[in-house]
Amino acid sequence: MPAAQLAPLDAPPGTRSVEEPNILVKDGSFWKKVTKVNLDTGEIVGERAPTRKDILTRLEFATVETKAHPTPAYLLSTLAGGADAPIAFRRAAINRAIGLVQGYRSNLRRYDKLPANRRGKPPSLPTVTLMPVTLYKGMGLLVREERRSFLKAKVWDGQVWRFEEYPVAIAPYQRGLLSVAEAEEARLDEVHAEACALKKNGRDEEAKVLLTADGKQRDGIPVLESGTLYHDGTRWRLHVPLSTPIRVKRAKDQLAENPDLPVTTVDLGVNNLAVAAAFDGANVKATLFIPGRQHEQRRLRKLHAIAARQRRTGGRPKRGSNRRIWRRILDGQEAQAKQAARRIVDFAKAEGSKVIVFEALSRMRAPKRGGFTRRQNLRRSYWMRGKIMLWTRHMALHEGILTVTRDAQFTSQACPRCGHLGARLCEASHHRRRGKDVFRCYACNWSGNADLVGALNLRKKWFGIFPSIAKLRREQKLREAQGKRTNRRKTTKTGPNRGAA
Ligand SMILES: [Zn+2]
Repeated sequence: MPAAQLAPLDAPPGTRSVEEPNILVKDGSFWKKVTKVNLDTGEIVGERAPTRKDILTRLEFATVETKAHPTPAYLLSTLAGGADAPIAFRRAAINRAIGLVQGYRSNLRRYDKLPANRRGKPPSLPTVTLMPVTLYKGMGLLVREERRSFLKAKVWDGQVWRFEEYPVAIAPYQRGLLSVAEAEEARLDEVHAEACALKKNGRDEEAKVLLTADGKQRDGIPVLESGTLYHDGTRWRLHVPLSTPIRVKRAKDQLAENPDLPVTTVDLGVNNLAVAAAFDGANVKATLFIPGRQHEQRRLRKLHAIAARQRRTGGRPKRGSNRRIWRRILDGQEAQAKQAARRIVDFAKAEGSKVIVFEALSRMRAPKRGGFTRRQNLRRSYWMRGKIMLWTRHMALHEGILTVTRDAQFTSQACPRCGHLGARLCEASHHRRRGKDVFRCYACNWSGNADLVGALNLRKKWFGIFPSIAKLRREQKLREAQGKRTNRRKTTKTGPNRGAA
């Protein structure tokens, strides 16, 4: 199917010329802020950035002729197929276009801010090859038959919009998924039809009972969502999302029902990628240490390869050189985050935890000392922590385990036993094995693995029994006034407890 049929606001690839109007790019008025007006006095009380819906409304106003508004600025109906394009299709296309131009505009802003010598090429205008279109109800239907499968889609053939059938290739494993989803949809349709019939006969109560019992999609069973057509440069691909409901009670509600709710806490750090502790009541049932070191070696080897190439060629690296190596480093980090998340989730599942508690990613702490590499390491670790949390949340949900975050203030400085101030001591500092650091409490003299303290204290944060921050801060100030050491961080973090239950 030619691309033009899918993008009435744009031209097919290859035929685009610079003069061609791309109204969303050229006409800034679509992106104007929305002003809030006091209806009584008529005065402007404020403004906000336009939402996608605002822009859609403006675009439809400017392109679609109606009785009330017969002369729009840019007439969509002058484009082939524009006059009688199905509304679902028009909206889908406009929404896509808005998304594309939004991305383009933010790239352009970034480009404009860069100094001239670091700019490189300006961002390119969005083109039709990047213009996927979602086929909402009535626009397209995937039909699977014994011998052949096809997509029945409404397309513009040059004269009229009509349904056309396009053969599709479906992999065997996808076939399996689709048939499960189709069966569930058929079941739902049947239940709703039955309920309708009951209602017609005045048996409303029975219909209600039937719908609440069977009228919902079953847990863990997927149904089909609207498919999206992409053009990858050579052929069209149909992406069909399957959605599966997972019903999990809010973490707070679970806790209210069961005060001994088994949890796993995870402290994401620099020495260890992650340290997790599973609890049975207040007791630690099991711990999991995921070191970050072995992967570090591999990453450093790649960075050295880049440095070596740079030495050989001399001078500043050009933009985009070493791209493949950088790509591989990033892919490696992503894979590492995914693996760590997998191990955390498997651990929590094996220990029977219902909730995983992370420390909230707060503002990144900038090191006072330390050069470029140190700052870079910190930034990377921040990035990694975000990725690990993201993947863990996703994977855990599939196991029915919730992920929550708690603010991390003082979690590495308070004693897990008595709650008073303590500190990390480098006991084996002469051979610099930081993994062997010990935490010691100033008050009760408890000592233990310093890497585990964060995870232990996170449990208290989750159950709301962590000592007050004000009290710990007073202890810290007192020690400092006495000239004694503390493990105070370089910048203090602020912010409320952020629960994501
Ligand atoms: Zn103590």
